[in-house]
Amino acid sequence: MRLTSAGAARTVTGSCHLLEAAGQRLLVDCGLFQGPRELEALNREPFPFDARELDAVLVTHGHLDHVGRLPLLVERGYAGPFLATASTREIAAVILRDAASLQAEDHARDLRKAARAGRAHTVPGPLFTAADAEEAIARFRPVAFGTPFEAAPGVRVAYRQAGHILGSAYLEVEAEGRKVVFSGDLGNRQNALHPTAEPPQGADAVVVETTYADRTHRSLEATRQEFEEVLMRAVQAGGNVIIPTFAVERAQQVLYELYRLKAAGRIPDLPVYLDSPMATKVTHLYRHGNSELEPEVKAVFARGEDPFDPPSLTFTVTTEESMRINDVHAGAVIIAGSGMMTGGRVLHHLKHNLWREAASVVVVGYQARGTLGRALVDGAKMVKIFGEDIAVKASIHTIGGFSAHADRDDLLAFLSRSPDAELLLVHGEPDVMDAFAADRRAAGRRVRCPELGAPLEL
Ligand code: ZN
Repeated sequence: MRLTSAGAARTVTGSCHLLEAAGQRLLVDCGLFQGPRELEALNREPFPFDARELDAVLVTHGHLDHVGRLPLLVERGYAGPFLATASTREIAAVILRDAASLQAEDHARDLRKAARAGRAHTVPGPLFTAADAEEAIARFRPVAFGTPFEAAPGVRVAYRQAGHILGSAYLEVEAEGRKVVFSGDLGNRQNALHPTAEPPQGADAVVVETTYADRTHRSLEATRQEFEEVLMRAVQAGGNVIIPTFAVERAQQVLYELYRLKAAGRIPDLPVYLDSPMATKVTHLYRHGNSELEPEVKAVFARGEDPFDPPSLTFTVTTEESMRINDVHAGAVIIAGSGMMTGGRVLHHLKHNLWREAASVVVVGYQARGTLGRALVDGAKMVKIFGEDIAVKASIHTIGGFSAHADRDDLLAFLSRSPDAELLLVHGEPDVMDAFAADRRAAGRRVRCPELGAPLEL
């Protein structure tokens, strides 16, 4: 067997791993590189394999860094299906359509700029178009959780719940009498929505993500308490409360926490706006796919209530509806994307509220270096939004405990029932990966960290 990583090797994004086994070529995920320009440039590089020669493409979950290069596989000649759970197909469809429209916008802007500089001919086309995205979406074939099937001759695959986002799976691949596990992204056991992954048993090798292999998350209870305290402080300050969120998982988690607090009578009746067409779509998918969620959440549905619809919630879809929120100067909770405040409707709400002393921003997600979100968390007193200087008078609160990724203890639990498996570390920052590798080697494990495009014999 041979493993070649075409992404998420010594980095977090771009997940794409080729497994050659039993004479077959299986690809696990084909995601987008995201981040600095040099990294994103890799999206246009050739794959270290011929897309026409792949025998199967397996998709763990719908996040862009796992599905964003699927349209390129189609373009470069892959003729088969993308195998994924039904919910992953739905999430991937939302994500790919959004990515295509963002790429079209970026492309148009780059073209305008280049035209003014007299070099429009140097601007490459978008990575993929809306039509390319639709073609990729149409290629998805649903796979059930828990039922092994033959993905290619001599290769059996089972999709198991990974507890990361709706539809997310880790894969057990059996071929040549051995078992290789691909973790995909694993969830945080302290997550309120998704059940924790059942650890795979008796694997010979585990290709495992290491996003947060260097840390331990706060307990759900502590995070909930902190969220309530921060929210109440923000409400008492009297201004609007802006909660920037990712559309998948975090928005639903915030809605659920608001629902719980309201149901327990712990917060007053506040108008809540979910001002994100994408998060609204994904919230419908979470409702529809609620059989995958934690028993506590399913129980709310069973009672005939909607855990993602706290009283006084308004889903704002059109731009006009969104703009009307600008007239609300106090007392509303506004949930909007993007999660790192790098674009999207949240920018309008920040522009209209950051300069107000009574307003609050509650940060519930990771903020990468170089983003507006990170600048606010780091205490910036003045920021630029749409080219305008905005004074930061609002209070900025950070809640660290909401995370969709496994921490160190989650990863150790996941690996615990495959004590003899070799570990192949992927999907992490190099320093985090190296520390986890050293730590696991000290515990007697064989560990390797795949390099981009370099085949490893398993
Ligand atoms: Zn993910």
